[in-house]
Amino acid sequence: MGSVHVPNRGLALPVRSTSSKPGPAVPHSAAVTRRIVRSLERDHPGATTELVYRNAFELLVATILSAQCTDDRVNQATPGLFARYPTPDALARAEPEELEGLIRATGFFRAKSRSLVGMARAVAERHGGDVPADLTALVALPGVGRKTANVVLGHALGIPGLPVDRHVLRVANRLGIAASNDPVVVEHQLGAALPPGRWTLASDTLILHGRRICKPKPLCDRCHAREDCLYAGGAASSPPAHRAAPRARGAETAAAKTRGRKTRDVKTRGMKTRDMKTTDMKKR
Ligand code: SF4
Repeated sequence: MGSVHVPNRGLALPVRSTSSKPGPAVPHSAAVTRRIVRSLERDHPGATTELVYRNAFELLVATILSAQCTDDRVNQATPGLFARYPTPDALARAEPEELEGLIRATGFFRAKSRSLVGMARAVAERHGGDVPADLTALVALPGVGRKTANVVLGHALGIPGLPVDRHVLRVANRLGIAASNDPVVVEHQLGAALPPGRWTLASDTLILHGRRICKPKPLCDRCHAREDCLYAGGAASSPPAHRAAPRARGAETAAAKTRGRKTRDVKTRGMKTRDMKTTDMKKR
């Protein structure tokens, strides 16, 4: 299912789902979601991508390289890459093998080299050498998935984008501000609760919270959101969540079975979603 695009604003709204059915109910209301996210933003001020870039092309390259790799390692590799291939046109003229030595340390360097050159050639041929400021056009580029497209839109192109990575997926489900293992559904659920102007910061904030506090083994005793968190047994301020949560989990399980995926009980077993970086290497 494609994005819902608003041409006159360049705004790519989150889609409802990869399924034709609406996603499960979200335990927390939009108002509670906004309050929780605002609180987390205060806990993690200045949240933004840690990738180093100077323009949309560089961020697109860096984000493709960040698959199965730390941002630090990507940032060590990109200066040499950008010095040699400073524009999409320059990268489009390269052969993938020429890049391999420059990006070897980021892992999966052969596949990433092919993605980078394919992306650059498509940008040069289809968009005159300019990274398109449009979600649909971005995800049509080789090696560019919805998360990468939203990263570039939100950080480098000034267009609201809500990247959902494995941290956002885990934290949002634990808190009860989303209820799905499907990143597109979670993008829609969060996007519906938050104003577009807050999408990118909210994503960055949830990622930082997931890296620092709400790790796979969460540090709940250090978390200021625990009173609202379903996983931690909170949410006392949001009575409907107690009723909505079991239905949401049940609905998601049925939906996941339909898609042939494993779904785990968010509350009792912890959120062990498929590793998006591993399974979505070619289209991040
Ligand atoms: S209370 Fe625990 S599970 Fe809930 S968001 Fe905080 S760290 Fe994560």
